Amino acid sequence: MSNHQGLKSRNLITFPLDISEVDVINVETNERGDYIVTVESTQNGATCQSCGGWITQPNGYGRELELRHLPILGHRLYLRLRPKRYKCPRCNGKTTTQELDWYEPRSPHTKAYDRHLMLQLVNSTVEDVSQKEDVGYDAVDGAVERCIQDRVNWDEFTELKIVGIDEIAMTKGHGNFVAILTTQQADGHVALLGVLADRQKETVRQFLENIPKRLWQTMKKVCTDMWEGYTNAVTEFAAAHPEVSIEVVVDRFHVTKNYRECVDNLRKKECHRLKKELSEAQYAEIHGVLWPIRKKSEDLTTEEQEKLQHLFEYSPELKLAYTFREELTSIFELPLTKEKAREQIIAWQSKVSRSALTCFDKFLTTLDNWLDKIVNYFTGRFSSGFVEGLNNKIKTTKRRCYGILRNTTLFQRLYLDIEGYRNFA
Ligand SMILES: [Zn+2]
Repeated sequence: MSNHQGLKSRNLITFPLDISEVDVINVETNERGDYIVTVESTQNGATCQSCGGWITQPNGYGRELELRHLPILGHRLYLRLRPKRYKCPRCNGKTTTQELDWYEPRSPHTKAYDRHLMLQLVNSTVEDVSQKEDVGYDAVDGAVERCIQDRVNWDEFTELKIVGIDEIAMTKGHGNFVAILTTQQADGHVALLGVLADRQKETVRQFLENIPKRLWQTMKKVCTDMWEGYTNAVTEFAAAHPEVSIEVVVDRFHVTKNYRECVDNLRKKECHRLKKELSEAQYAEIHGVLWPIRKKSEDLTTEEQEKLQHLFEYSPELKLAYTFREELTSIFELPLTKEKAREQIIAWQSKVSRSALTCFDKFLTTLDNWLDKIVNYFTGRFSSGFVEGLNNKIKTTKRRCYGILRNTTLFQRLYLDIEGYRNFA
């Protein structure tokens, strides 16, 4: 940079503006310390907006643009430019304004600054970025619209081997769910495919039908929760197209969550009972047992083991439930074939139903209904990947973007949180 007034030349450094096809005409600072750099295009000509031909007959300049660009040494930087205009001899002298590839028409930012904003926005909020960058809320929003597609770009995918379907509740306890589709790619990366308005079968089916046909036969597994809207959509989709052969796998995570909850509910009930029946001193022995009982037995500290031991003395029922829970988990840990896994789970199931315990009753029915798809896990041991990290990411995105009701916006924000560092860093 040159022409800076008031500074001695030995305090100056020169570096490239990193913007192609412009000359720097002037550099000044305003009262806020912002740099205003006036540039002029060195490119001659434009593509006629009417006939598409290349035109070079000058026709003055358009309105002056002032575009926010990347900051320099902590100072804001604006680029001023008067775009050149050209006249087309073939289209009755119709004029066209020259466009340069480092900004988009009607954008108040250079493309580089838009990308800078996207990077700031990863795991953050529009509000926060707006404040830190001193850019209007709508300007950050506009940058999102320019930079992030609002739906999946199928060109980015060559296969969809494992697809995950899961949901998030948009409002607590109102059954207002959106379905999230993801795919786990060969390198383990979990990519976002879609945010669906609800988790109805027809909505999911429609999404599957809209996947480009070239990808259909690459789809091998769909990992889902035990929700018929998803599984029926997949089954019907596969039945309607002979070239599609997909196996539905109930995500192990959902099964685990299901039977662990049975034990958790019993723990609550039993602790409630014991609080009434035991003396204060006795109850103190078992107080704070919530975390120990959630752990695997081999992960317990000695102190936690003692605490659990006390609890189990007071509640043999809870001890049995805990033992059953750990047994089932260890079945899932074993390298079993699908058939062997089915046998072992059925054996577990009948042992539990023969016992006096009732806390697993609901789960036993779930097993009756879903066992086929649950044991599909054992061939390949695939999981949606949604649950391994992405689930939490989505929850925090949702929390941060509280109030976002449009699914396209939610897609953009999730996409940015998942892919932002890869795409904009
Ligand atoms: Zn023309």
